[in-house]
Amino acid sequence: MNTVTVSRKAEDRLESGHPWIYLSDVTGRGQASAGEVVRVAGPKGRCLGVAHYSASSQITLRMLSRQDEAVDRVFYLRRLQAALDHRRRVVHESDACRLVHAEGDLLPGLIVDRYGGYLVVQFLDQGMDAAKDVLVDCLRELVEPQGILARNDVQVRKLESLPQESCVLAGEIPEWAAVHMNGLTLRADLLHGQKAGVYLDQRENYLAAARWARGRALDCFTSSGGFALHMATRCESVEGVDTSSQALRAAEANRTANAVANVTFREANAFDYLGGLAAARRQFDTVVLDPPAFTKSRSNLDAALRGYKEINYKALKLLGPGGVLVTCSCSHHVSEGALAGVLAEAALDAGRTLRVLERRSQAQDHPILLTVPETLYLKCLICEVL
Ligand code: SAH
Repeated sequence: MNTVTVSRKAEDRLESGHPWIYLSDVTGRGQASAGEVVRVAGPKGRCLGVAHYSASSQITLRMLSRQDEAVDRVFYLRRLQAALDHRRRVVHESDACRLVHAEGDLLPGLIVDRYGGYLVVQFLDQGMDAAKDVLVDCLRELVEPQGILARNDVQVRKLESLPQESCVLAGEIPEWAAVHMNGLTLRADLLHGQKAGVYLDQRENYLAAARWARGRALDCFTSSGGFALHMATRCESVEGVDTSSQALRAAEANRTANAVANVTFREANAFDYLGGLAAARRQFDTVVLDPPAFTKSRSNLDAALRGYKEINYKALKLLGPGGVLVTCSCSHHVSEGALAGVLAEAALDAGRTLRVLERRSQAQDHPILLTVPETLYLKCLICEVL
């Protein structure tokens, strides 16, 4: 194993529980090559553990263990088994879930999602990419899937100088698979579509939204209809709105598969559509807002917050006393406090008083490490208009 030496600052960062070491804190890399497992040594030569080495990214090292141990098949089997054990405790009524949530499962750079009998994996750094054969082998042994697909067509791989591509790694992969979640049957578009069109991270929030939803409901940014279909049994009617005709086709297929009669879908820009409904003085009892991330970087935070404030303001204009607002943000850089802050401002501007019913986050199969803030990205507030 090659040894990479790091600065005092990097050592302190590891001591604070974060597994990343940046290029600027690497003081010597020896013969280390792209994707290798390396021993990490502090400025005085003390072994700090073992890591995946990236020759391209600003994040040069991602720690795999704080022990000086071999990272081999046995190591990966142990980490994967622990990840699967956790899912057994927290995933119910679903054959679709996230099996591995990268740093959240002490496997930085690796995402594994299960959709029924199929696994969709993402190797997000050079180290995990180099380990793909052994990882596929371990997953076959532990999960026995019908097929494993690599969805490596993601932007972050560019930072690692890795190609963006999708390829079948084991078995066979159909165009789409029917998965079961909270009593619904949903279509997972394995080969295309964002997150295969099944938003695993919202699984628990769907149930929460359905618990509070009532009357006439509006689901903005509905995509394949996740919130809309979950709320249908509790509501008189639900309208789902999205700009993507492809997502809406999946939503309609999901509606048909579940024989739901009181949900309609409409192709529209949610910002404009909400404004138009308010101008026409239309009222709803429940509104869901689950937009895409408005920013992926801290530098755009102010613009993102203005966006969140605007849609929440527009949604609140449609809700009278007793109305329920389910509002989400999947921007990592927008904290729950910041989201609550703009929601409070929007409520004041709209002349509404909001009571918080639930403060929620991503489903528990997307585990959060307290010392790794990047593992927490989804916020969901459920509020009632007084
Ligand atoms: N709520 C969905 C997931 C939403 S993902 C679920 O749980 O299944 C975000 C969605 O917002 C995407 O489907 C995208 O097409 C849509 N979108 C992006 N900008 C939009 C806009 N301005 N108006 C309406 N939909 C938009």
